Amino acid sequence: MTATTNEDAARFLSRRPSLLINNEWVASSGSDLIDVINPATEETISQIVNSTTDDVEKAVAAARAAFDGGEWSQQSAGQREALLHKLADLIEANKEELAELEYLDNGKPRKFFLAGDVPGAARNFRYFAGWATKIYGQTAESSYSPDHHVYTRKEPVGVAGMITPWNVPLAMATWKLAPALAAGCACVLKPAEETSLSALKLGELIVEAGFPPGAVNIVTGDGVISGAAIAAHDAVDKVAFTGSTKVGKMIVQAATGNLKKVSLELGGKSPTLVFPDANLKKAIPTCAMGIFMNSGQICAAGSRLYVHEKVFDEVVGGIVEFASKLKVGPGDDPDSVMGPLVNQTQLDTVSGYVDIGKSEGAEVAIGGSRLYDRGYFYAPTVLVDANDSMRVTREEIFGPVLVAQKFSDTDEAIARANDSQYGLFARAWTQDVSLAHTLAAKFKAGNVHINGGTPPDPNIPFGGYKQSGWGREFGREGLDLYLQTKSVLIAI
Ligand code: NDP
Repeated sequence: MTATTNEDAARFLSRRPSLLINNEWVASSGSDLIDVINPATEETISQIVNSTTDDVEKAVAAARAAFDGGEWSQQSAGQREALLHKLADLIEANKEELAELEYLDNGKPRKFFLAGDVPGAARNFRYFAGWATKIYGQTAESSYSPDHHVYTRKEPVGVAGMITPWNVPLAMATWKLAPALAAGCACVLKPAEETSLSALKLGELIVEAGFPPGAVNIVTGDGVISGAAIAAHDAVDKVAFTGSTKVGKMIVQAATGNLKKVSLELGGKSPTLVFPDANLKKAIPTCAMGIFMNSGQICAAGSRLYVHEKVFDEVVGGIVEFASKLKVGPGDDPDSVMGPLVNQTQLDTVSGYVDIGKSEGAEVAIGGSRLYDRGYFYAPTVLVDANDSMRVTREEIFGPVLVAQKFSDTDEAIARANDSQYGLFARAWTQDVSLAHTLAAKFKAGNVHINGGTPPDPNIPFGGYKQSGWGREFGREGLDLYLQTKSVLIAI
């Protein structure tokens, strides 16, 4: 296998497939392995373990022991803070290898991992390192008796199971591990079977950083086996899930056995409204990259575009021109802006949706086809002449497919934007401050960006209304997902 010239990454790809349990790299109780495919070449570059339910038992037992035995849960806040900073240091020191593994596994151009996801992962650990020493309860007055000293304690929830998707693999693992470890939870992580390499590399760095055995355990493989086992496990106190709304609902069902706490980051079909007074020079490229970044495989992608009729031709024409110049190619080509889709299934899903859109009457303004003979590349695509009842407008495609429509009236545009089972993001472009605040209040979405925005920020809560999820990751609320409150009354 010569997938990479990066010696560290090459060594990692050829390591024995194993699981992280109790700080040891152990073999599975089964023998099933899963091939790791480079989506740009369709070549097998490595293998991971397809964990058994027995492997999950061992990982949960290790986490339970680290938590109940106190080796992890009794570490001081300062020790947790220091370990999280150490882990961030190691991520920065290993950024080239992490970016290499991530692009080979997921497909997005390496330069974006190097500039964004990998430093972002370190940043997430540093951010939550800061929170570790800022966890405290409150004092309170009893309504009934002045002779009681009353206070609350914030305690870690216990063992946290984490199930993550393939679209931004390292980032998703850190979004969950960082607050959980800051809170003092012991963790069992199950990354997506498509893209487990960066989580496994992160596991090596976690051991190197000095986290005690059992604080973080990593099982890889098929979600239907190991993910479902984590979600249903009675010794898991909380499960944090990012993925499809369909599997999110299964997680909720599975969690009923011990009523474990559940947080969910699910799908989206996020609208963008462009008003005639908008700064179109900024709006056009931002809307384009809002759907083409990561080949549209982003839950928050701006996949529904509503443009005022006065500027529709200019905006959609501009996005089509942007798409025509967008370099689609393998992630090691420094000029590539869009890589392949993650796998054949996703390629089939995306092309299937575009076919459905055409059969429903939408027109392809650009794209609409697979690219190249090899690799899961799909052209940046814009559909026009669509309407709000089409499946391409209503369902999450999770690919580089923008559905553009006209509007003429603001209230009508807001109603159409909100007419979705999802509510993750909503965006708008306007210079009118009053309209901007009106939209911010009226959008039924967990995140609103007006005239731009930044990548996900660990200090800003992220999550969805409606079927886009439960709870918020990041910020104080993200930490609270891994804490519970105990009220203490002491008679004086
Ligand atoms: P899935 O829901 O299929 O998978 C997510 C994770 O769940 C994977 O690790 C998967 O394992 C696992 N899984 C699958 N079946 C089960 C099960 N029965 N019980 C427990 N775990 C299971 O989503 P994708 O990975 O395909 O990701 C794409 C979807 O995720 C999109 O809909 C997207 O919008 C959403 N998403 C949402 C985000 C958000 O922040 N709101 C962010 C990123 C993605 P396996 O790898 O074996 O399939």
